Amino acid sequence: MVTDYAEIAKDVAALGAPPNLADYQALRADWNWDDIIAELDLPGGSYNLAHECIDRHANGDRGDKIAMIYEATDGEVTNYTFKDMQREANKWANAITDLGIEKADRVFFFTDRIPELYFAIFGTLKRGAIIAPLFSAFGPEAVMERIRRAEGVMVVTTPNLLSKIDAIRDDLPSLEHVVVIGHRQGVEAGEGNLDYMEMTEGASEEFENEQTGSEDWSVMHFTSGTTGLPKGAAHVHNAVIGHYATGKHVIDLHEDDIYWCTADPGWVTGTSYHMFAPWSNGVTNLVYEGGFGAGRWYEAIQRHNVTVWYTAPTAIRMLMKAGVDSARQRDLSSLRYVMSVGEPLNPEGVLWGQDAFDLPIHDNWWQTETGAIMIANYPSVPIRPGSMGLPFPGIEPAIIDDQFNEITEPDQEGQLALKPGWPSMFRTYWNDQDRYDSRFQGGWYLTGDRAKRDADGYYWFVGRDDDVINTAGHLVGPFEVESVLIEHEAVAEAGVIGKPDPVAMEIVKAFVSLKEGYEQTPQLRRELMGHARQRLGPGVAPREIDFLDSLPKTRSGKIMRRLLKARELGLPEGDTSTLEDD
Ligand code: AMP
Repeated sequence: MVTDYAEIAKDVAALGAPPNLADYQALRADWNWDDIIAELDLPGGSYNLAHECIDRHANGDRGDKIAMIYEATDGEVTNYTFKDMQREANKWANAITDLGIEKADRVFFFTDRIPELYFAIFGTLKRGAIIAPLFSAFGPEAVMERIRRAEGVMVVTTPNLLSKIDAIRDDLPSLEHVVVIGHRQGVEAGEGNLDYMEMTEGASEEFENEQTGSEDWSVMHFTSGTTGLPKGAAHVHNAVIGHYATGKHVIDLHEDDIYWCTADPGWVTGTSYHMFAPWSNGVTNLVYEGGFGAGRWYEAIQRHNVTVWYTAPTAIRMLMKAGVDSARQRDLSSLRYVMSVGEPLNPEGVLWGQDAFDLPIHDNWWQTETGAIMIANYPSVPIRPGSMGLPFPGIEPAIIDDQFNEITEPDQEGQLALKPGWPSMFRTYWNDQDRYDSRFQGGWYLTGDRAKRDADGYYWFVGRDDDVINTAGHLVGPFEVESVLIEHEAVAEAGVIGKPDPVAMEIVKAFVSLKEGYEQTPQLRRELMGHARQRLGPGVAPREIDFLDSLPKTRSGKIMRRLLKARELGLPEGDTSTLEDD
């Protein structure tokens, strides 16, 4: 653990613009969510994410301000003002209203990162329906499970992803509409599908938003647990309070910032911080369609004069691999503040930022369920490299023991818990209230993470408290992967773990035993890899598969993933008293 922070503190103090959060301790002591609520618009007492992110700016002083700088993969750049965003979102809202989409209907988004995605997301929120974005690298099985679970009525997609929807459509009785955004490639929607352009072309540019209240549904993101298939964590429009507040005090957004969040719109950071935090703060937001590439990313920062950059540890480790010179060769002087989320950011990553950009990287922590950042490093507070930082004002975390009692002595490991009741907290797992209730025990929300708090109140991540795998910042539930593997005719049993990886933090690794008559051949291994990839997509499918004659199980037949992991890593096997006799 690094204990001398003087150098880092000095550099943090030298960060360009005066931070919005100048005195952390004072703001924490005085915190009142009502002060934040007073900074929102909330017309007629209604809460609507689209109103706070788009309409209030479009109708006010920021109408002609650029809301979105869009850079397509071919390098073409198009700017959209807040008025443009409002007009396009209104057209979509009218089009789906005409189709009969109702308040709280689940509308899925499974698209590339193109402007119409953002127009349709805000238009759907205006209508009062629930947006449910999906990671575009998901395979058909992963998509089907999520749409089925939420009884989605519409999916919006792009031609390159349409075959994955076609493959599952007949298995989804709730799915009434498939909308294809094909005009950018000159591709037609195809029979049985709706065409985005045709739907919106003649639609009115005016729309009266649904009068959603603070507790009306807004966003659903799927997240993985140890058991069962992914659950739809459902959020309400009240969450905008958290997006706006953390956008102001953690992301430190200022009027003239050019902000870039690299998260994929299919994950929660891709909505909360790629869309809602910047736009509720009225800030110009870069949407960069291209994928990762150190040189390309640096050039994007340079070309668009990005000032505030929010990315993830896996990306930072990939940038580190590309070398500090690759950053130093470019003029990245527009940058004033860099942040990271999704996995632990090692101290080396924080300090590397200092070398590469003359800026330390600020780590922060939150989850799909929390809806917004809960623990963070702030521009005005010295960083302790390797720490997630201090609680956001208004948030009360704790380290608790197995009986849900708070551990008050410093540097003791326990489960990280939060006092429930913050505005952006999820309100249910869709159609699974029991599982939701199980996350609240002893007066705490249980995060499923293990952590420590030091004597000065900084939180330090230790690891997951469950078997969930964190690969490149994306959570993967082992059960979902095991279920697909055992669907293959050759597989008798499957156990899936996270194997440590120097870049992606963990990779998905599977162990399988075969049914009688099948042989453990490299060809079968490849076939299983292909099967999982095809069904789940590359982000979820195992990167490694090992054959075992049988998997370690408890006497009640449960596969002991913990033991598989210990054996893989050469660690002590711990308590094996429940292990089934061979
Ligand atoms: P998700 O719900 O997919 O956003 O994933 C949330 C989980 O990612 C957390 O419960 C942690 O396990 C991990 N995570 C997110 N941010 C951090 C961080 N800054 N440090 C360590 N782990 C993190």
